[in-house]
Amino acid sequence: MAGNPRDKYCIVGVGETEYSRASGRTTRALGAEAIRNAMNDAGLTPDQVDGMLSYHGGDSTPSTSIQYDLGIRPNFYMDCSGGGSSTEALVGLAIGAIEAGMCDVVAIFRSMNGYSNIRIGGTGARASAPIGGSDLMKRPYGLISAVQQFAYTRRGAGRTTMPNYNYRGITLSIPENDSEYKGYFEAAGEGRLVVKKCVECGLLRGEPGPGCPWCTSLKWEWQQVSGKGTIYSYQVVAHTVIPSFRDLTPFAIVLVELDEQRGQPTEFDGLRITGNLVDADFNMEKEEKVGIGKRVEVAFLPVEDGFMLPQWRLIDEPEQGFTWSHEAPEG
Ligand SMILES: [Zn+2]
Repeated sequence: MAGNPRDKYCIVGVGETEYSRASGRTTRALGAEAIRNAMNDAGLTPDQVDGMLSYHGGDSTPSTSIQYDLGIRPNFYMDCSGGGSSTEALVGLAIGAIEAGMCDVVAIFRSMNGYSNIRIGGTGARASAPIGGSDLMKRPYGLISAVQQFAYTRRGAGRTTMPNYNYRGITLSIPENDSEYKGYFEAAGEGRLVVKKCVECGLLRGEPGPGCPWCTSLKWEWQQVSGKGTIYSYQVVAHTVIPSFRDLTPFAIVLVELDEQRGQPTEFDGLRITGNLVDADFNMEKEEKVGIGKRVEVAFLPVEDGFMLPQWRLIDEPEQGFTWSHEAPEG
């Protein structure tokens, strides 16, 4: 067969994590560790990996998160729906992508917290989600997992507890094994703003992923920051698709660059956190008051017992750097 890729491609590295019934971490943290291990096994650095593929059943992590976590800048990626033996299919897809010239090295992953949290079919959190369609003939009878459908037996789901908080009709779930966001919201519940700090290179990161985007280290600790910063960018929402937010419009979503680590490790980087711009009473700040370069400070909006949502308030300090504000329409 012309163009047969046989003997042209090879698997150069393999990585995995510990297999357990209580990982204590997210699928994102597990996936990042596995890919990092595979890169180490192959002797590759993040800039040498330019493709990523994953498969999942709604129980994994998008490859875009893991790319960010490990500092990988892909030319090609795709998250496929699948299970079972999809791995082989993805190896074939990877070969096709390379053969087509889209990339040179593809990392393929499958990350699950099957026994610790969520698995295909719906143990753990998934079991309480709304159902419809073919599930209506299964779940009311307690039939939920792929394994059950093969064998009608299933054992040993060591589930984690999962506190739910309700904010404007949105259910926010922060399970015990959430190694990315739980610490952030625990600190926020105490009125403290924290970011992750890499234990190896010492750099902070605003997005609390499991890996350091600068050195790929998986070792991190929470570090409290001042909670002061500058509006780096913003958008004003005039029409929202979230019904419970309609009475708030127009409201501003701001991207705040914290004072710590501005312009590091490159001039384009900084610690940036999303929130709304609110006034002293936690009402949405007026549209005409929003502007790039304006100084702000974090404010913690009490939502439920032990849960506060970090928001941002203008402070009386001179604007910094490039300043810009879009003119609010009349009326
Ligand atoms: Zn680092």
